[in-house]
Amino acid sequence: MLLREVEYARPSSVDDAVRLLASNEGARALAGGQTLVNVMKARAASPDVLVDLSRLEELRSITVSGGTLHLGAMATYTEIMGSSEVDVSRPILAEVAAQIADVQVRNRGTIGGNVCSNDPTNHLPPLLVALGASFTIRGADGERTVPAEEFFLGVYLTAVGEGELLLSISVPAAAKAADGFASITIGRDGTCIANAAASLSGDGARIALGCVDAVPVLLTPAGSDEASVREAVTEGGLEPPSDVHASADYRRHLATVCAVRAVQQATARGR
Ligand SMILES: Cc1cc2nc3c(=O)[nH]c(=O)nc-3n(C[C@H](O)[C@H](O)[C@H](O)COP(=O)(O)OP(=O)(O)OC[C@H]3O[C@@H](n4cnc5c(N)ncnc54)[C@H](O)[C@@H]3O)c2cc1C
Repeated sequence: MLLREVEYARPSSVDDAVRLLASNEGARALAGGQTLVNVMKARAASPDVLVDLSRLEELRSITVSGGTLHLGAMATYTEIMGSSEVDVSRPILAEVAAQIADVQVRNRGTIGGNVCSNDPTNHLPPLLVALGASFTIRGADGERTVPAEEFFLGVYLTAVGEGELLLSISVPAAAKAADGFASITIGRDGTCIANAAASLSGDGARIALGCVDAVPVLLTPAGSDEASVREAVTEGGLEPPSDVHASADYRRHLATVCAVRAVQQATARGR
């Protein structure tokens, strides 16, 4: 289907991008376009102005400083997979990026677009919650940083408000981190039916479940053994959606399977 007529701007600075987004009520940021253009074609969204972020090189940088990995919102999955900074500071990010869809989507899709669309079946929201990431957002009134637990607000809804731009995502650097990720997908490269990310540290385990609620569900079990993980999922009182791919009961079961697998993978890496 053809797109509805839409105005288009390609700013060359972050300030200009924020100005354009804040001064046009119907404006939307355009990152890799892998979600936005599809929903525009389906007429599920029809922005009046597209603010293309592709010229903003500063949003593409991947750096490590002060024990933290900073990923620009416009870093693509392919760039994350090939980044030596990611490899030495939090390799699970590259590993999970490599599991997303196909090579075309990975070449265009960005970490910022992935989290800003907050599709509950996406790979990165639960991973970033488990890793304790934080998100830097800029609007007309300045910049603020939001922890992952407060970033994801609902289906397709995040802490990035209208007229605002996600600049970067920060993750604690830990090359030998005990991180894990597991998913059950529709076909080999397909959408997740259930997924889970886990990160173990001296403070305990953080497990984030995807596909079972509008936002990732964070669990902090008492231990990282299988019984504790199963108990934490049960106590989470999940009410997952039921659809053609899985009933609510089956998805609840898959969430437990993914959580156990993610923690087992994390445990093996932490040895
Ligand atoms: C065939 C196919 C299969 C896919 N399978 C998967 C999958 O298995 N797992 C998965 O995780 N994803 C999957 N995706 C989605 C893909 O990962 C998208 O790339 C991602 O969800 C959106 O990223 P994008 O850069 O393309 O963003 P866009 O589509 O350009 O934008 C998405 C939304 O985020 C907003 N946005 C983007 N960047 C910013 C920013 N910096 N600040 C503020 N708002 C911003 C946009 O305004 C828009 O509302 C799939 C996509 C396709 C086409």
